[in-house]
Amino acid sequence: MPDIHIRTEGRAGRITLTRPKALNALTWEMCRAVEAALDRWRDDDRVALVLIDAEGEKAFCAGGDIAEMYRTGKAGDFDYGRAFWRDEYRMNAKLAEYPKPVIAFLHGFVMGGGVGLGGHAAHRIVCDSTRMSMPECSIGFVPDVGGSALLARAPGRLGEYLGLTAARMGPGDAIHAGFADHYLPEADWDGLKAALVASGDAGQIARAARPAPASDLAAAQHGIDQLFGGEALLDVVNLLRAEDSALAATALAAMERNAPLSMAVTLEMLHRLRSPSLTLRKALEMEYRVSHRIMLHGDFLEGIRAAIIDKDKTPRWRHALETVPAVDVSRMLMPLGPDKLDFRETNMQIGFIGLGNMGAPMAANLAAAGYAVTGFDVAGTTAPGVTSADSARAAAEGADIVITMLPNGDILRAVADDILPVMRPGAVLLDCSTVDVASAREVAARAEAAGLAALDAPVSGGVGGAAAGTLTFMVGGPEDAFAKADPLFEIMGQKAVHCGPAGNGQAAKICNNMILGATMIVTCEAFALADKLGLSRQAMFDVVSTSSGYSWSMNAYCPAPGVGPASPADNGYKPGFAADLMLKDLRLAAQAAEAADADTPLGTAALELYRRFVEEEDGAGRDFSAMLPRLEKRTRN
Ligand code: NAD
Repeated sequence: MPDIHIRTEGRAGRITLTRPKALNALTWEMCRAVEAALDRWRDDDRVALVLIDAEGEKAFCAGGDIAEMYRTGKAGDFDYGRAFWRDEYRMNAKLAEYPKPVIAFLHGFVMGGGVGLGGHAAHRIVCDSTRMSMPECSIGFVPDVGGSALLARAPGRLGEYLGLTAARMGPGDAIHAGFADHYLPEADWDGLKAALVASGDAGQIARAARPAPASDLAAAQHGIDQLFGGEALLDVVNLLRAEDSALAATALAAMERNAPLSMAVTLEMLHRLRSPSLTLRKALEMEYRVSHRIMLHGDFLEGIRAAIIDKDKTPRWRHALETVPAVDVSRMLMPLGPDKLDFRETNMQIGFIGLGNMGAPMAANLAAAGYAVTGFDVAGTTAPGVTSADSARAAAEGADIVITMLPNGDILRAVADDILPVMRPGAVLLDCSTVDVASAREVAARAEAAGLAALDAPVSGGVGGAAAGTLTFMVGGPEDAFAKADPLFEIMGQKAVHCGPAGNGQAAKICNNMILGATMIVTCEAFALADKLGLSRQAMFDVVSTSSGYSWSMNAYCPAPGVGPASPADNGYKPGFAADLMLKDLRLAAQAAEAADADTPLGTAALELYRRFVEEEDGAGRDFSAMLPRLEKRTRN
């Protein structure tokens, strides 16, 4: 991605913002790329720490890229902004809670979204050019990206002062206010970065750091505490108006420019948050209550218009400084109910390739659960709620997870070659088809080489399970990719088992289906034998289904019509699970057994029987349990 450079170097995962012309303003894509990198590196033993920095002289990051939010919000679409904020806040929380040291080099402007990216790192390094601030009240918003937590924890009433006036902090101020940890002249940064990359030891930072420069804020702390201790916005304004000092005059002048509703809400947020039980998640959840409503009930769109779009710097705020009704403040902060920020990755975009008997209902279930699903099938099939793309590439582009549900390994490999180059960094290719282990491992290797993750996740449960969302997934591939796909497994299925590295899902599927093929045949053999021995099928079922001969083939999918639960046998052996597909799976098992030099005599016998049934007899297109009518007609010769 051109705006952000993510890579590993030595012992470090490195994230560098590369949009200096836009003061490294954070786009949605950049937020998602940061999150994906953190997910990837969490369990990667080569990465001991994460280092975040930015190109250009002027800014580490001057905020979020709000142009698209404005455009969509103006058109009455608030979902874009809400989804962006949800993803960004989740990324902010991940940075703060990351199990490995995160180190941020904060030069130049570090504002809003930049504080969200660098301000929650475990080690925050500032230099002489650093200018940190939470300027949201000046554009009709409130301090967000977890900034409210930093403000609430700042000494005394500094949080109120910084939030309401949007004042900038130099390096000493940032350290005094708790927005930064260490001071080091920028000339020494490259040396420290190189040492961190080489050693993976965050202890180097404290050894390299210099004493913090003096802080003007620390000097003004007493005055700030006196002036910003008021309960509501009007109390603060009255105190400032009554005070004859440069501090009060400058603060008042800033506040007269800022959005009154934003400042009143900010004040209330800080009062509510400031407690020993404050967590970043609590603050982000409260901020999101405001973000969710700000375009509709706040001054955000007007603030951006005046500051960034028309640049007339004369916003027409909804309220005057003295007359913000308390009810408008509480309305912004009311709990959101089902829209609450829950830090789950529900806004994933999904590409779905292969909308056949299985794929179509699986894709429809994801769409019904609220995911944005874009699908493609060469046969032109569609699924309810799924947006149709005109190529596999178009379905895969921009998706967080691309699911494939295709006939075989050759097609899977061809589709993977087609889509891997256009998949976005950090995305996951989730193949649910049943294919050979070698194809699954090859696709995983190609995905890894392209900086992506792949999971092989074949399913058990058939068309019925796909429609009902009760499939079982057997999954091979990296742990973090499994974690990312887990919410989708929960919707499409009832169980997902992580079986180990790439290919292990297919290995599990092949072994399972080898058992299934052999048990189905022997179950059918037993029914045919029982017929000839004069034992009724019902009696046979009643005994075996509760005796040591029981199996899924007998108990859940009984091949005898009219016996046991409803199954394809009761529907003229219409699949269900076609004998052709069982033959395919047994071939995959035989192929894997040969490659692994495993002796599988019953698997081999089952393969030969299904081969004859499908290729030489009338088995093609019939359910795999139609082995019973085949056997019941036969004699030993
Ligand atoms: P299907 O034939 O109904 O669906 C496969 C779909 O893939 C078709 O619609 C086809 O048009 C499409 N396709 C083929 N090449 C394509 C390409 N290059 N790009 C896009 N689309 C393409 O098969 P299904 O029953 O849905 O099974 C899919 C997979 O699931 C298979 O691997 C199968 O072994 C496995 N499976 C099936 C069942 C079952 O009961 N049907 C159960 C478990 C697993």
